[in-house]
Amino acid sequence: MSSVTPTPAAGPAPTDRIARAILHSPQAERAARGRRHYFPDATDAEWYDWRWQFRNRLTRLEHLYRLLPAQVAGNGALREVLREFRMGITPYYLSLIDPDDPRDPIARQVLPLAEESSDLSLGTDDPLGEEMHSPVPGITHRYPDRCLMVVSNSCAIYCRYCTRKRIMAEDVVSDLALDRMLDYIARTPSIRDVIVSGGDPLGFATDKLDRILGGLRAIEHVEIIRIGSRVPVALPMRVDDELVTMLARHHPLWINVHFNHPNEITPDAARACDRLSRAGIPLNNQSALLRGVNDDEAVLRALCHGLMQMRVRPYYLFHCDPVRGADHFRTTIARGVELIESLRGHTSGLAVPQFVVDAPGGGGKIPVNPQYLLAYDRGRALLRNFQGRLYEAQDPLDLPPGALAGARLANPARGGDRLAPNGWTQAAAAPAQADAAAPRRVSAWVHPRR
Ligand code: SF4
Repeated sequence: MSSVTPTPAAGPAPTDRIARAILHSPQAERAARGRRHYFPDATDAEWYDWRWQFRNRLTRLEHLYRLLPAQVAGNGALREVLREFRMGITPYYLSLIDPDDPRDPIARQVLPLAEESSDLSLGTDDPLGEEMHSPVPGITHRYPDRCLMVVSNSCAIYCRYCTRKRIMAEDVVSDLALDRMLDYIARTPSIRDVIVSGGDPLGFATDKLDRILGGLRAIEHVEIIRIGSRVPVALPMRVDDELVTMLARHHPLWINVHFNHPNEITPDAARACDRLSRAGIPLNNQSALLRGVNDDEAVLRALCHGLMQMRVRPYYLFHCDPVRGADHFRTTIARGVELIESLRGHTSGLAVPQFVVDAPGGGGKIPVNPQYLLAYDRGRALLRNFQGRLYEAQDPLDLPPGALAGARLANPARGGDRLAPNGWTQAAAAPAQADAAAPRRVSAWVHPRR
């Protein structure tokens, strides 16, 4: 049995920048236990070699029967499922799975399920209409000033809810196809922001990714490059010095990572994020809201807090796209709103992601928020805070220039008088109500001047 303590030569950076809460977390212990359980003979040099991790991915059902028998027992339909959408699980990501928990949230993201081949699926192969907005293969150009560049159809792990399942069976993206994408961007001066995604671009050899990023940097009107990647989550050892040194040559560069559950926030993932941050790359997280994985208030809060400790900003929480075969992952939009409401005001604003629905057919991301503005009438807004209490806010008065000179503003907190012009009095304000039914009762609220 090999030690789970990483040796300096094996790759990991020192731990002095990793939050103690992550170093000593239950998920850190689970990952160490998982490695001992699934890969007792792996040396540190192997474990921290991302190519070894890639080579030893679980890709066949036989691997599951051997390593996770309880999770796949009796599931005869899986061979058919894997014909539709391949499987890939790195040894590292496998180490996060509790072999005895049939509802393990990490397993749920990557293990095939018979539900995927249900004839009742309401989903489609291209739920976001990316192909419809594709001027050349690999480019999705939906918004005027930015575009998506799908440079790869390969990932370290294959997420069973993936919106781009359809491209994973295609041939490898050729150099010629990449040149055509770059050529389209060069010919389209309105594009100032390019998202390089896939598949997972960080799974490329460093020099190949360097060529793509260099090609983009050579285009004068491209201001920002963003990379979308699950590598820090599923293959954190890939984030080595060679990679971050190369990435830092292509600033301004941003990376959107994709953590879905607090069990993914391990010391190795935190080290990968730390390396990227120290290379000057801002990190934002995009989670998918997944039934049975993170559709729970405590889980989502722990995820967002863990991200903050890794200096990763929780950015988007995506309503799960209606992709064919992923219906069992989908929740209602109302549930997403409830979850955001459970965070807003109950934790730092920075820790609250924006809940978005990617409009089916290519309408773009639509933010969906809990309703805090209950009524808005003649410059007066009735607002609800995170505890359900009601407050009013007043718009600036529409007065001629200079009319406010010498007047004291109505700010009770400063002990000021109320301004006379609108005749508003404290007594006329709706009483603060803490009960949950309050927002419905005040929907017809009007201010006293009416
Ligand atoms: S890593 Fe991203 S692109 Fe790859 S399967 Fe998962 S969600 Fe899809």
